[in-house]
Amino acid sequence: MPDWKELPVIIVGGGIGGLSAALALHRKGIASQVIEQAPEFKEIGAGIQLGPNVFRMFEVLGLTGPISALAVFPNNLIMMDSILGEEVTRIPLGEAFRKKFSYPYALIHRADLHKVLLEACEKSPLIRLDAAEKVVKVDETADAIVAHTESGKEYRGAALVGADGLWSTIRQMVVGDGKPNVAGHITYRAVLPTSEMPEKFRWRDMVLWAGEKVHLVHYPLRTGELFNLVAVFHSNRYEEGWDSYGDPAELHERFAKTCEPVRTLLNKIESWRMWVLCDRPPIKDWSRDRITLLGDAAHPMLQYLAQGAGMSIEDAVCLADRVTAAGGDYPAAFRAYQQARYLRTGRVQIMARVYGEFYHASGVAKELRNMMLGSRTAEEAMTGMEWLYSEQKELTHGAA
Ligand SMILES: Cc1cc2nc3c(=O)[nH]c(=O)nc-3n(C[C@H](O)[C@H](O)[C@H](O)COP(=O)(O)OP(=O)(O)OC[C@H]3O[C@@H](n4cnc5c(N)ncnc54)[C@H](O)[C@@H]3O)c2cc1C
Repeated sequence: MPDWKELPVIIVGGGIGGLSAALALHRKGIASQVIEQAPEFKEIGAGIQLGPNVFRMFEVLGLTGPISALAVFPNNLIMMDSILGEEVTRIPLGEAFRKKFSYPYALIHRADLHKVLLEACEKSPLIRLDAAEKVVKVDETADAIVAHTESGKEYRGAALVGADGLWSTIRQMVVGDGKPNVAGHITYRAVLPTSEMPEKFRWRDMVLWAGEKVHLVHYPLRTGELFNLVAVFHSNRYEEGWDSYGDPAELHERFAKTCEPVRTLLNKIESWRMWVLCDRPPIKDWSRDRITLLGDAAHPMLQYLAQGAGMSIEDAVCLADRVTAAGGDYPAAFRAYQQARYLRTGRVQIMARVYGEFYHASGVAKELRNMMLGSRTAEEAMTGMEWLYSEQKELTHGAA
């Protein structure tokens, strides 16, 4: 009888979550087959923030070295008031932060993170990677899964993980709750060579300029060669349709009330990529028998805590742990995995919305935000982040 670990787990989606899942299973000696619909395994987009909770997962996955070589480790998280042009609060990310959370805070280009994951997957004899195949149907028997792709290919495996993102096809098979919720918030993103960033803003910090129904974020990337800019504003534009390039005129109109430094930065960019932000309310059951979900497919969230990718990497580590603990009983493993994850990921989904309200506050709410955040000590600010950044024992307690 062959070892249960040899019949692969089929992973639909080769984004950050799907590749992390393949790698986490590999670390437990379990085979997997990743199926990606795009013509090649690749990430587009810009920067991504990684909290110490994510670095803890890189340690488990054996990726701390390659990730650290490509990351920037900022000095502070800073919030500015984008109308007054004044600092509201800062959290230093130096020695005290690292001592408290054991791992650093980092900034990385999304393509670099994806490349590190992909290269690690490519080195594994246990991981098969197929691009240009879109999964359209899944059949399940008592002891196996067959995934069918649009081109007519069939993949047979022991179980299936839907890591197919916000618009997940697998979620519709398992949960069936329709389209995600359009938040009414639009993000414009751009990456600038550092030479084009005004010198007075070349801070080695993660900076967020909070405004009224708008905010702007900037931080350095790729060991300081690049700067990442993210502008967010409320808009009903999605109802009118949208394309993947942003409209600078709308951006400038939305940011008209912000201070001169913010408008100077916005003027630096000629071409923005646009995202319409979506999320879903948390759920606690995202598995059915031998099928489960991971990452944005399971718990899509707004980006305001910078944790969507981080949660998918934590999911991956937890999933592999529970599969091992259950000795290949996939339905039991998937129930244990979602049980370990749903309150944490649900909390991040809900708190991301709350942070969005904070960043975009006006009137009394804004005054209150500035007063409350501004009066905290660095130690109090770090205490406020313990729930998110501290070790999550339930992630890996399942198996050796
Ligand atoms: C503006 C913005 C900023 C963000 N900033 C941060 C941040 O700083 N830190 C952070 O941690 N997170 C951040 N996030 C969130 C993060 O980008 C996502 O949570 C993360 O990329 C989700 O990864 P995933 O693998 O679950 O899904 P995805 O990255 O969406 O990957 C899904 C993959 O599945 C493939 N696929 C889909 N359907 C099929 C199918 N039927 N068959 C085969 N393949 C399929 C897709 O092509 C895709 O490659 C941000 C998000 C946004 C929008």
